[in-house]
Amino acid sequence: GGTPGGWAVGVGSGGGSGELGCGGARGALGHCCHVYHTESSAFGLAGCPVMSQCCPPPHCLNKQNEVEIPPPTQKERDKKKKQQPMCQISGVKKLMPSSGLTNSSIPRFGVKTDQEELLSKELENLNKWGLNIFHVSEYSSSRSLSCIMYTIFQERELLKTFKIPVETLLTYVLTLEEHYHADVAYHNSLHAADVIQSTHVLLATPALDAVFTDLEILAALFAAAIHDVDHPGVSNQFLINTNSELALMYNDESVLENHHLAVGFKLLQEENCDIFQSLGKRQRQMLRKMVIDMVLATDMSKHMSLLADLKTMVETKKVTSSGVLLLDNYTDRIQVLRNMVHCADLSNPTKPLELYRQWTDRIMEEFFRQGDKERERGMEISPMCDKHTASVEKSQVRAGPRAGGPVLPGGACSPGWLAGAGWEPASLHFELTCQHPQLAADEPRAPPLQEAPRG
Ligand SMILES: [Zn+2]
Repeated sequence: GGTPGGWAVGVGSGGGSGELGCGGARGALGHCCHVYHTESSAFGLAGCPVMSQCCPPPHCLNKQNEVEIPPPTQKERDKKKKQQPMCQISGVKKLMPSSGLTNSSIPRFGVKTDQEELLSKELENLNKWGLNIFHVSEYSSSRSLSCIMYTIFQERELLKTFKIPVETLLTYVLTLEEHYHADVAYHNSLHAADVIQSTHVLLATPALDAVFTDLEILAALFAAAIHDVDHPGVSNQFLINTNSELALMYNDESVLENHHLAVGFKLLQEENCDIFQSLGKRQRQMLRKMVIDMVLATDMSKHMSLLADLKTMVETKKVTSSGVLLLDNYTDRIQVLRNMVHCADLSNPTKPLELYRQWTDRIMEEFFRQGDKERERGMEISPMCDKHTASVEKSQVRAGPRAGGPVLPGGACSPGWLAGAGWEPASLHFELTCQHPQLAADEPRAPPLQEAPRG
C-alpha cells in the first residue's frame, strides 16, 4: 500500500446511514488503518470519516512500518471528496416533494389522467396475458409502472393485508418510476410495468392456486417492479469492459442486478416511501431475502442453470389431486418464484404480435445505441448491437405465442403458468437461445480465462 492510488480507498467516504461501500472499506481494514494513521498526523481524526467509524483508534495507532505519504493538496482533497469512492448508491435522485396526495384526491388508478375512461377500459385486461401496457402508458401520461403497480396492489388487496398507507404506496411507485430512465429505449418503466403485470398473471395460474403466501406474492410483485430500476441501457458486459464504477462496485458479478436491488431498496428510505413500514422484523427480513433472490435471478448469465434446476424440480414434483403443485418447502417455493419473475422478464415473444413488435423495436434500438458507444470507443461491437450488420428480421424470427405442451406432471400446468404463456421448459430453452434478442446479446463472450466459475 501507500501509493497515492491506494490512499484514496479510505478517504472521502462520508459514511451516512444506508450507504453502500463502507463494508468494502472495512474489508480493507489493514490498508485503511495505514491510511488513517498516516493521515491523522496531517488532518486529525476527523480527516478519515470511514476510519473513525470502522476502525478503533488504538489498533490503528499500534500500526507499525509507516510509510511517508505527502499530504494531498486542497485541490486533490476536493476532487476525492467529490468522487466519494464506493460510498453511496449512485442514481438515487432527490425529487420534488410529492404532490401532496391526500386520501380524497387519489385518482382511481393512482395516476392523474384526463383519459380515465380509456384507461379503465384497458385495465379490464389487468388479469390477462394480453393487456396492452403501451395503451396504459398512453392513457396515464407515461406513468404505466405507477398505474399498474398501484392497480395490482389494490386488486390483490395488499394495502389492507400489509397495512400500506395509500399515499405511501403512491409516493413510492412514483419515485420508483422516476428512477427508471425514460431515455432508455427498452429498459425503462414501461418494461417494468410489463414485467409486474406479467408476474401478476403468472401468480394467478390455476396450478399455483393458493400455493403462495401473501408475503411471497408481495415480494414477487415488488421484485418485478424494481428489477431494472436505474438501468443505463447497456449490458453487464459493457459495464465490465469499460471499467465502469458499477462494475467496480460489484466486482463484475451481476453488476446491474445488484444495482437495481440496491436502488429499489434504498428508495424505501425516501420520505413517505416505506411501503413495508407495518411489516414485522421477520417479515421484512424474509421479504428482502426473497426479493434479492428473484432480482439476481434475472441476470441472463444465470438463465441456463435456472432452467435446468426448474426442469429437475418440475420432473420430480408432486401435484395434489386437484392438480395444484405441491410446494411444501422454501427452496421449492422460491425456485418457482424466481423462475416466474424471470419468465415474466422474458415474456415478450409470447405476447400478441403487435406488442412483441414494439418490444423488439425497442430492444434493438437500445442494442444499437450500445453498439454506437462501443464503436466510438473502438471496442469490439457486441452481438446484435451493430446497426450496420444486425438484422432485425433475423432477431424476430417467429413471433407470437407458440403452442406449448404441459409443463408439470399430469398436465397440471396446462394451460398453466409457463404453458399458459406458450412455453414449456424445452421450448422455453429453444425460444430463448434461438430467438430472444436479449439473450443473444448477453451471451458470454469473454475469453475462457474469465469464464472460470466463480464462488
Ligand atoms: Zn427486465
